[in-house]
Amino acid sequence: MRSIYLDNAATTPVHPDVAKAMRPFLRDSFGNPSSMHSAGQEARVAVEEARDKVASLIGAGSEEIVFTSGGTEADNFALKGMAYANDGGRNHIITSSVEHHAVLETCKFLERLGFTVTCLPVDGSGLVDPDGVKRAITKRTLLISVMHANNEVGTIEPIAEIGRIAREAGISFHTDAVQTTGHIPVKVDDLGVDMLAMSAHKLGGPKGVGALYVRKGTRIESFVHGGEQENGRRASTENVPGVVGFGKAAEIAQRESDKQAKRLTPLRDRLTRGLTERIDYIRLNGHPTGRLPNNVNMSVDGVEGEQMLLILNARGICVSTGSACSASSSEPSHVLLALGLSQEQARGSIRLSLGRETVERDIDRVLAVLPGIVNELRTVPASARGTMAEGAAAGTALRDAILKYETEKRTQMMCRFSHLRCLTCPASGIGKGCTLAKWQLAKRRSGAWG
Ligand code: PLP
Repeated sequence: MRSIYLDNAATTPVHPDVAKAMRPFLRDSFGNPSSMHSAGQEARVAVEEARDKVASLIGAGSEEIVFTSGGTEADNFALKGMAYANDGGRNHIITSSVEHHAVLETCKFLERLGFTVTCLPVDGSGLVDPDGVKRAITKRTLLISVMHANNEVGTIEPIAEIGRIAREAGISFHTDAVQTTGHIPVKVDDLGVDMLAMSAHKLGGPKGVGALYVRKGTRIESFVHGGEQENGRRASTENVPGVVGFGKAAEIAQRESDKQAKRLTPLRDRLTRGLTERIDYIRLNGHPTGRLPNNVNMSVDGVEGEQMLLILNARGICVSTGSACSASSSEPSHVLLALGLSQEQARGSIRLSLGRETVERDIDRVLAVLPGIVNELRTVPASARGTMAEGAAAGTALRDAILKYETEKRTQMMCRFSHLRCLTCPASGIGKGCTLAKWQLAKRRSGAWG
């Protein structure tokens, strides 16, 4: 059976035309864009053409685009670059509690350097209140950083409104548009931003390349020092194949993103409605309408997101329990907690993010499979879903059960390399806290596993 990929917020498959555009730069056109000979100049032309395409997608000038190694670096560059360029007078940053770790961890780092950070709350749908931003501004505010749309729950923030407030106060404004660029309209002048972070792999481009838009006149210090690449703003030889791929992905997105959004929105809504109708005690997280066209994030009472993910995975459906970067953490998502969910509700969440390759029958399959999985998990007595100490006590019987389950290659990969804290692979035996093992134990106890 064809496997179904519903984790496009984590990453998207490389578009075939992107792969085709990159191929010559992986072999024949290998020149260094800083070299003066023809091989180098061929690469330089390709990089500049890609820059034009990325700039055009967001309504920027080409000279305002700085290529980076991805969205994380673009966010780091915006915040640290602004902080390092600061003449000392202003040391206050305003951000929100639902930002990606690329922003939140950078803020924590800057706090260690003496900056103060105001982390604004959000309402139950994940929205930042623009008036809250206004109230948080002080004479010392250097920068406001609020994301365009949230990667976990898909809520689209009122960026244009915050942009107006920032401009009136004369404060620089950065937005993390990693989840929106190439998916919904992103125009830097409409949004009123001074800096905007993007990542190629979220829009059909390759991993390891992104960009920061920096409005002309914005004072920002490089934080990767070395050569004079990227107009002296980011040293290191350009990732030519990656940049070319990003350019191609931007060109395709500019042509097709409206059509894709129109196609995905009804699929998203059908999935949300279908799950709500078929599963009791389930709720949509994030804004009901002001959300990304491809994002469905739901909390299911009495069931762990990780359990649903693993069983869906075993049935050929890839989803996520939160952002890819935090999937290895046992902590519930900071975003869901910020929306006011309890720890339990947050742990019971899954994110299904649709993409260019998602078709109606994929939605049908999830609707056919997931309600049954939830039912199964709920019929297991809560006590049987208990601790792994019980699991360990079950000894070899449980181990045999796990090994039986692991004969499926996919599941084995999942156990070894994904986010399970313990390893249930034959080499390491039974560990602690593994959801899959708990599930196996529960099945045995409930008699459902012969
Ligand atoms: N910001 C947001 C909102 C994201 O969703 C991500 C990736 O998940 C990033 C930043 C980091 O981007 P990258 O993976 O290119 O470093």
